[in-house]
Amino acid sequence: MKFGGVAVADGQRIRRVGELVRRFKSEAHEIVVVTSALSGVTDLLFKNAERIATETKTELIEEFVEELRRRHVRAAEEAIDDKDVLNSVINELERRLGDLEKALRGICLLGELTKRSLDYITSSGERLSAPLLAGVLESLRINSVHLTGGEAGIITNDDFGNAQPVDGVESIIAGRILPLLREGQVPVVAGYIGETESGVVTTLGRGGSDYTATIIGAAIKADEIWLWKDTEGIMTADPRIVPNACKIPTLSYVEAMELSYFGASILHPRAMLPVIRNEIPVRVKNLCDPDDEGTLIWKEPERERVVKAITLIKDVAIINVAGTGITSISDVAARVFSSLAAKNVNIIMVSQGSSERTISIVVDGAQLREALDALRNMNGNVIKDFYFNPDVCAIGVVGAGMAGTPGVAGRVFSALGERGISIIMIAQGSSEYNISFVVRKDDAYEAVRAIHDAFGLAQK
Ligand code: ASP
Ligand code: MG
Repeated sequence: MKFGGVAVADGQRIRRVGELVRRFKSEAHEIVVVTSALSGVTDLLFKNAERIATETKTELIEEFVEELRRRHVRAAEEAIDDKDVLNSVINELERRLGDLEKALRGICLLGELTKRSLDYITSSGERLSAPLLAGVLESLRINSVHLTGGEAGIITNDDFGNAQPVDGVESIIAGRILPLLREGQVPVVAGYIGETESGVVTTLGRGGSDYTATIIGAAIKADEIWLWKDTEGIMTADPRIVPNACKIPTLSYVEAMELSYFGASILHPRAMLPVIRNEIPVRVKNLCDPDDEGTLIWKEPERERVVKAITLIKDVAIINVAGTGITSISDVAARVFSSLAAKNVNIIMVSQGSSERTISIVVDGAQLREALDALRNMNGNVIKDFYFNPDVCAIGVVGAGMAGTPGVAGRVFSALGERGISIIMIAQGSSEYNISFVVRKDDAYEAVRAIHDAFGLAQK
């Protein structure tokens, strides 16, 4: 596993988290910790759940549970000095691994993986890491108690895989968390997980521990929420594409939202929603460099820079739909979108020229097949034909300062023109916080670099 570019064992990493908590607690802060799973564990849970349901071999379950056991127990042994605490953590891990094993046996027996069981299984990463981290805190002499999402009051609807907190969740959470803080405890909440009113486990979507943190932060009216990552903060572009990309010091909530919707996988897309109303500052901080300020996300945009960041969504496909002329273009749009929605296809961009009877839609590459199925099954009176191209990428140029500043789109597109990159599709929402466009896959990296240069985003 990676820790700031260096391979570091889970145990050392979780111990470092514990020491950070100790340090901030000693500065008289009241702290609630939200934990993610150990690195890569959620991915493994998804992969193995799928495999066990398809191949229906019980040996797979034993191997996988053993792998998780080894990793978590080793981390506990490395990070926890106190023998009694270690024993009780290991007992808890065993109990939870036992529950996971039962769930895996269920899907193996039935050869079927429902969304509900997938949520139960994939939330195990956090169900294991929470008692582990609470044990580390205990062994550092910090009174701590671990809670699942449900225990912390994260009550959601039953939209498995993408559950939303229900109305009134804030007071439930405050009722559970505030008394613990008053007792001087540090609650360690398993991120990513919620629970329906009837107690069924749900998840908030990938990267959901950020969302858990902001939901809880808003509920208890925290002074600040810190999201710890393995990067310096939110960057002007992906440093793997643009080597001189640099940290963005401040972003507004809407800018952060635009970025996360548009492929910057650093934040959960909905993570800003709970904090906007309460205007709680959010900091994205670097676990390797805790004294660095990171990126501050708050209500006021910094307007000096019109363009703040450039994001790239690599795996997308563009679909062009032509209407028959029998129906109006709005009718075509309505029916196309509802048939895509019925297949749960997520639409990333839409564009429609005013003269032609065509609509261009960009979808996640992984959902192209569903999207095409949906269109093929549509009534022939609505669409005449469609074509698609999976060899494209979507690029988003984000910054609140673009609103009302003329010439930004011109600069974006001339930067591309100068490098001979042609644009396949363009979309800009009327909020003017985001200009998005589609280019050929082969041109994508060059396009990101061209715009990054054109707006002088590199480190000064
Ligand atoms: N463990 C979950 C995931 O990998 C949630 C998170 O890390 O925020 O998606
Ligand atoms: Mg994570």
